[in-house]
Amino acid sequence: MKAEIIAVGTELLTGQVVNTNATYISEQLATLGIDVYFHTSVGDNPKRMTETIQIAESRSDLIILCGGLGPTDDDITKQVLAKHLNKELVIDSQAMQNLNHFFRNSQYVRTPNNDLQALIIDGSKSLQNRTGLAVGSFLTTNQKQYAVLPGPPSELKPMLTEQLMPHLSDENGNHTLFSRVIRFFGIGESQLVTRLDTYIKNQTDPTIAPYAKTGEVTLRISTKAENSKIAKEKLDRFEQELVTAGNLSEFIYGYGEDNSIEKVAFQLLEKYQKTITAAESLTAGLFQATLAKFSGASEIFPGGFVTYSANIKSQLLDISLEKIEEHGVVSEWTAQMMAEQAQAKLNTDYAISFTGVAGPDSLENQEVGTVWLALARKNQATITKLVKISRDRNYIRKMSVMHGMNLLIHELNHKKD
Ligand code: ATP
Repeated sequence: MKAEIIAVGTELLTGQVVNTNATYISEQLATLGIDVYFHTSVGDNPKRMTETIQIAESRSDLIILCGGLGPTDDDITKQVLAKHLNKELVIDSQAMQNLNHFFRNSQYVRTPNNDLQALIIDGSKSLQNRTGLAVGSFLTTNQKQYAVLPGPPSELKPMLTEQLMPHLSDENGNHTLFSRVIRFFGIGESQLVTRLDTYIKNQTDPTIAPYAKTGEVTLRISTKAENSKIAKEKLDRFEQELVTAGNLSEFIYGYGEDNSIEKVAFQLLEKYQKTITAAESLTAGLFQATLAKFSGASEIFPGGFVTYSANIKSQLLDISLEKIEEHGVVSEWTAQMMAEQAQAKLNTDYAISFTGVAGPDSLENQEVGTVWLALARKNQATITKLVKISRDRNYIRKMSVMHGMNLLIHELNHKKD
């Protein structure tokens, strides 16, 4: 099935609003294995909207319009689509009840145009609006599917995922869609996609949707099944096949839509009741601030060091300044000493250190983005790691922290005692 998203609203064309709805809808449709071939934006103009719908009909099976469902004169999406399809607009009784309920309990004065928000195209299924007033519609006619969704993302997102997607899923069979998000660090999206090329090109069920985020990549695998047990078995098998075929196991750090590398590292520290400190140069406290985002941080993180200059590294961590200068600030030796001294001073289970070149200028003839990390471990040898990160200063600092979290995850995953 080929889908097309038409975002309606003059403010999208004047640059006042960024079309995030199209991105979100595409991302969600990919989980159903529906390919989006076109994103179009059009102003609140009936003629141009009709032309845009006609073009979409000539090349797509599913046409999703978003925006322009409000009560004002420029909100004409349903009206234009209804006229184009030769259909009437009719009142949706449940949406009207919602409107009545809203105005009974609100200080807002109801005006006649509010009722427009309860209209749907005749013959369509209504999509109720849990977070707003304008009802959406889903219609199948002339072998095409049309959906109309509200513009505000806070209304569109729940309507899409809770109302429209189950309909779309039903149209392709009665099974429920189950998804799993696998999270990768240390491999770029293009490399991941290349390694899974055959699977992505030939996907049917389960489907695969890769997605690149800052510093990481996620892969959503989805399948339709009668129940969650059958789905889990299918997804387990498929994941195993992908991981083996792409040689990917070392890059997986966690699962789930709302997870993050720092959350996984934090949860593992909590699970194994391990404490950690840090000595940070280029990241200047970012690792520690990232850990402190989570409640319960005080149980695992007693405090740490921000040692930006060589002098302060020497003073706070008792490392010989001469030796730092001899080895270089950005060196394996300095990273190792920073981590080991921090661990010894606070007597934690772990200490992590970061020293590197955040840029824009190079340092000690080392390229921008050269970063040494070290993970000191109580009564065990310290692990060191050199990473090369390209792009701007803050990206390098953020990625350094992510590499640190990843190092910890690898360590803790092997430490089951
Ligand atoms: P309302 O009842 O608020 O008028 P509506 O369905 O008529 O809702 P619009 O008037 O088109 O929607 O847009 C309302 C707001 O929703 C816009 O001002 C903008 O903030 C946001 N919005 C609209 N379209 C998009 C889009 N494609 N991507 C992101 N945000 C959008």
